Amino acid sequence: TYTISMASRYTLAIIKPDVLVKQPHNIGTILKRIESKYNIVQRKQLELSLSDAERFYNDHRGKFFFERLVGFMTSGPIIPLVLSEKNTEVDSIKSWREFIGPTHAENARKVQCLRGEFGTSDTWNGFHGSGSPDEAIKEISFFFPEFK
Ligand code: ATP
Ligand code: MG
Repeated sequence: TYTISMASRYTLAIIKPDVLVKQPHNIGTILKRIESKYNIVQRKQLELSLSDAERFYNDHRGKFFFERLVGFMTSGPIIPLVLSEKNTEVDSIKSWREFIGPTHAENARKVQCLRGEFGTSDTWNGFHGSGSPDEAIKEISFFFPEFK
C-alpha cells in the first residue's frame, strides 16, 4: 500500500489579512470548513512586520507584485496554521493547495475552493499554502519554531 512520506504530513497555511480585516464574520465558517478535512495542529494570530513579510516572501523579491504583496501581508493580522490531512494516506501539501485553489481569485471562482469563495483578487486571495515539502518545513519553522 502507498503511504505518504513524513515530509508531506504537514503543511503551512495562512489565513491572510483580507479575511481577518474585511470579513471577520466568516472566520468561524472558514475554520469549520478547514476542520472538516484537516487537523489544526498549530495555530496562532499575529501581525507581520515589514521585514518579516519580506523574509517570508524572499523568493518573490524582485517580482513586479512584491511590494504589493508585502504591503498586503502587513495590512492586518494573519492566522498561520499547521495542518495535517485527516486522511493520513493523503499528501497534506497538495491537498491544501487544491482546497484553497488557484492563486488568482477570479480563476479560483471557476472551481469549488476557499479562494473562489473568500478571495477578491490576484494579491488579495485570502489564503496561503506551502508549495513543496521543502517550503513547508521552512515555513512551519518560520511561524512555529517550537514545532518539531
Ligand atoms: P501562496 O504562496 O500565498 O500560497 P501561490 O503559491 O498560489 O500563493 P505565489 O506564486 O507563491 O502564489 O505568490 C505568492 C502570493 O503573491 C500569492 O498568493 C498572491 O497573494 C501574490 N501574487 C502571486 N502572483 C501574483 C500576481 N501575478 N499579481 C499579484 N499578486 C500575485
Ligand atoms: Mg507560493
